[in-house]
Amino acid sequence: MLSPSDKALVPFVSVDHMMRLIHHIGLGDMLRGLADYIADDFARWEQFDKTPRVASHSAEGVIELMPTSDGETYGFKYVNGHPKNTSDGLQTVTAFGLLADVDTGYPVLLTEMTMLTALRTAATSALVARTLAPRGATTMAMIGNGAQSEFQSIAMQAIAGITHVRLHDIDPAATAKCAANLAASGLHVTQCASAEDAIMGAQILTTCTADKAHATILTDNMVGAGVHINAIGGDCPGKTEIAPAILERGDIFVEYPPQTRIEGDIQQLAPDHPVTEIWQVLAGQAPGRISDKQITIFDSVGFAIEDFSALRYVRDRIRGTDLFHPLDLLADPDDPRDLFGMLARAGG
Ligand code: NAD
Repeated sequence: MLSPSDKALVPFVSVDHMMRLIHHIGLGDMLRGLADYIADDFARWEQFDKTPRVASHSAEGVIELMPTSDGETYGFKYVNGHPKNTSDGLQTVTAFGLLADVDTGYPVLLTEMTMLTALRTAATSALVARTLAPRGATTMAMIGNGAQSEFQSIAMQAIAGITHVRLHDIDPAATAKCAANLAASGLHVTQCASAEDAIMGAQILTTCTADKAHATILTDNMVGAGVHINAIGGDCPGKTEIAPAILERGDIFVEYPPQTRIEGDIQQLAPDHPVTEIWQVLAGQAPGRISDKQITIFDSVGFAIEDFSALRYVRDRIRGTDLFHPLDLLADPDDPRDLFGMLARAGG
């Protein structure tokens, strides 16, 4: 544990620490806790500095920085998205992030965020589905059975009351992996050979595929009245999943319009196509689902405030535990203006 004299040491949560923290809290409880923190921050949305994330694109993927601040605390996440990585044994998405004290500018937490991103994305999806999905929804189609898929399924169970998931991936091995990982979850799991089969009887359709292309995971004829679409994978220019005709028929809910219009499935629509900011629905300032027939679409791209919430949650939950390393990240000379003297003394 850090002592007061260690104020320049920054708690660092490694991947191993994060996994132990998740097991210590329990995955379902942690997803619910994250959803509560995200809901709290969405409720004070207007207090935050907001900017579309800063993206550096290449042929194979994207590297992004996602900053925000509530005036007291500043946070950012570094995250990549490289769909072809999996063929080299690497992950599509990896991330780490930092929280800092606005008054001093000193970091107060550095943490892995690959695991944490999967949890925060799933918690956000389920928080939104609990609000927008048809009442009594029990079944989700989970299309794209990669790294995010089990987290999405378990969050929908823990937060939105889903009892059945219908899995599909173009790679049957991914579906088999996801089904095996969900075997002990209590969810009824069905492996489906096609996306058309996966959506049968589902009230929530989650698309979480990775391909740097204008893919059409859901075609217009696949989507009937009354469903909720949780569109996760279209999160970058030139990378979409939903047929534009579905977007035209449905009501679209987004995190932060200036970012989603660049990155989300709505990049396929006119720049002034109406969308609702999801924080306004959660805050009771805008309507969500207003009819049984309505198609609701959460065009999720992932926004900095969700990462800020997740970072706050981890900062609060590691207090009093040994689930971090004190990291010697900041130079801390006895005389703050004598940085050079500190270096000279270190040379002996
Ligand atoms: P992943 O590479 O581990 O899994 C993607 C899966 O999609 C693979 O199993 C692949 O076989 C499958 N797939 C590709 N094309 C398909 C198709 N046409 N039909 C069915 N399945 C198909 O990636 P991941 O980490 O699970 O992430 C999935 C997507 O979600 C990525 O595009 C990522 O950028 C995005 N993502 C979004 C958020 C957010 O906040 N919205 C957060 C994290 C990840």
